[in-house]
Amino acid sequence: MAQPLVVVDCDVDASNLHLALDPRIQERHVFVGGPKARIKPGHCVACGKCEELCRFDAVYFDGPGNGRVPRTCRVDPVACEGCGVCVRFCAESAVEFIPAETGRWFVSRTRVGLMVHADLEPTAGNSGKLVQQLRQKGRELAARDGRWLLCDGSPGIGCPVIASLTGADLALIVVEPTCSSLHDLERVEDLCRHFGIDAVVAINKWDINPSLTEQIESQAKARHLPSAGRVRYDPSVSEAQNWRKSVVEYDPAAGVSQDLRSLWDTVQSRLRQRQSASPRP
Ligand code: SF4
Ligand code: SF4
Repeated sequence: MAQPLVVVDCDVDASNLHLALDPRIQERHVFVGGPKARIKPGHCVACGKCEELCRFDAVYFDGPGNGRVPRTCRVDPVACEGCGVCVRFCAESAVEFIPAETGRWFVSRTRVGLMVHADLEPTAGNSGKLVQQLRQKGRELAARDGRWLLCDGSPGIGCPVIASLTGADLALIVVEPTCSSLHDLERVEDLCRHFGIDAVVAINKWDINPSLTEQIESQAKARHLPSAGRVRYDPSVSEAQNWRKSVVEYDPAAGVSQDLRSLWDTVQSRLRQRQSASPRP
C-alpha cells in the first residue's frame, strides 16, 4: 500500500519479513558486534583466575596443553558476553579481546520496493547497533528518491526498539487484546513520549477478545493516544504467508484487507497533519 517504499526489518533478533517479501540480495555487508575474549594457549598458565571471575560461565579448562601445563583454559564464544573481566585480570596477558563478526546485513530488491534486512547469529548481542546501521541505510535509500521508509520494529522497549524508533515521524504501536498488552502499551507509549515521537495504536485480532479491546482503547484514550483502527482475526493472513504474500495481495476483498487499507489511510492522514503542522526543511 505504501509506494514507493523502502522497508527495513528492524526486528533483527527474529527477522521474518524476508519470508513474505522474497528478497533478491543486491548488497551484502558484515556486521561486527562487540568484542569477545579468546585465550592464547601458548601464554596461559592455567591459574584459573579467569574461570573464577567469569560471571557467565564462559571459561572451560579444556584448552590444549603448552609444555608448561597439560591443559589451558578456553573461552566458549557463545557464552562469552564480552565483559572484559578476564582480559583485565589475567596476570599473563593471555586473553585477547577480538571484535567478533556476528551477523550479515543486506540491501535487496523485492516486488514492493527496496528492503534492508539482516541475519544475526543466535546469541549475538548488540542488536541495537545493527538496527541503527539498517535504519541509517534505509533512511539514505529513502531520501535518495523520496520513498516512504517503513521500519518493522521488535516487541518490547529494549535497545533494538529504541534504535528502530529513532528519528521516526510516527510510531504505529500494534497490540493484541491480551492482559499483557494493557501494560506493554503503556510502556511503549512512555518510550515514544520520552523521545518525542508521535504515536498511534492499532489493535490486531481485536475480535478475539472484544472486551479487552475496549479496555485497551479506553486506556489509550485516557493517555491521549489516538487509535489508528482495529484489524480483525482472519485465517487468510496465515494462508497468505504460506504463499509468501501479504494478505492485501492474496485476498484484496477480504475484510482484514479492508481493515488494513483503512488503517493505512489513517496513518497517512496523521502523517500529513504532522507535516502541515511542522514541515520538514
Ligand atoms: S587468567 Fe590467564 S593464565 Fe590464568 S587461566 Fe585464565 S587465561 Fe590462563
Ligand atoms: S569477557 Fe567476560 S564473559 Fe567473556 S570470558 Fe571473559 S569474563 Fe567471561
